[in-house]
Amino acid sequence: MLSDIRYYSSPLRVSDAVNELKKGKGKWAVFAGGTSAVLGRMGNVSGFISLKNCGLDHITQSRTELSIGSMARIQDILENKAAQKFAKGLLYKASYRIGSTLNRNLITLGGNIIQIYRWSDLPVALLVLDSKVNVKGPASRTLKFSDLLKKHPKTVLKYTDIVTEVRIKSPSGVFGTEFITFSKTEFDYALCNVAVFIQMNEKKCKDIRIAFGALQPLPFRAYKLEKMMKNKVIIDELIREVAEEASKSTEVSSDFRASREYKKHLIRVLLERAIKGAMKSA
Ligand SMILES: Cc1cc2nc3c(=O)[nH]c(=O)nc-3n(C[C@H](O)[C@H](O)[C@H](O)COP(=O)(O)OP(=O)(O)OC[C@H]3O[C@@H](n4cnc5c(N)ncnc54)[C@H](O)[C@@H]3O)c2cc1C
Repeated sequence: MLSDIRYYSSPLRVSDAVNELKKGKGKWAVFAGGTSAVLGRMGNVSGFISLKNCGLDHITQSRTELSIGSMARIQDILENKAAQKFAKGLLYKASYRIGSTLNRNLITLGGNIIQIYRWSDLPVALLVLDSKVNVKGPASRTLKFSDLLKKHPKTVLKYTDIVTEVRIKSPSGVFGTEFITFSKTEFDYALCNVAVFIQMNEKKCKDIRIAFGALQPLPFRAYKLEKMMKNKVIIDELIREVAEEASKSTEVSSDFRASREYKKHLIRVLLERAIKGAMKSA
């Protein structure tokens, strides 16, 4: 794949990077952490436009939100105090599960949310938070993170689009979060991961968001399960019922790592643990 690369540039401004992509007419692509190029997963690309000098690696927190530049590396998120604590450590937990330390020093937030694989971790956590994505291109816009995931992000974005930043609203009220993942070994890809955000009003669930990853080509929200819990008093029996329903109704297939039955078992066990974990942190 790298032997096909005939052009490389590293502009200083995002607008220049957009112009470079226009010039490439779809044959040149954004180069972020570069791990997909190493894996040979960038398709028919003959030029790279690196964003490393565009100043997109910030992590800043205001009273209302956390903003993370698309070129912030996963390791930067892990080491940033505001990101570590944000949403009761949800981003930290998901980031920590990504590959090895070596990979986390290369992989960027932008790359992780655009080059989605079944095992992608951070997008699952971002789905249960109130997250938006800033896109610069011929038509600059802000997308809800969930809209970026309606189809594969590479098909939602145009070849001239650059994701500059992810903005996540600070959760308020009495809330808790949990992220749980299961893989065969510590560094193996996830077989199933679950993120839960829960907002409580006394013993009642005021709001809940549940997302799964690694089970289908794209991470997804489990709206039906959320509905089963909203405005209900949370007792163990209800959690068991929801986890049972998740296992029954989620489409999964066998692969060389695990059977369909085993994945269904994982869904039930991990969701039960994740809901209880989120409630404990609330
Ligand atoms: C060995 C290994 C293990 C891994 N394990 C995991 C894991 O357990 N969990 C997990 O979640 N991920 C894991 N990953 C990472 C993941 O699968 C992707 O490879 C990675 O997220 C890509 O990030 P990158 O910064 O290297 O992007 P790049 O490879 O540079 O880019 C990926 C794609 O996204 C586009 N792109 C990147 N940034 C932007 C932007 N800002 N705007 C527009 N387009 C952009 C590029 O053009 C390219 O098409 C692993 C990767 C490797 C190599």
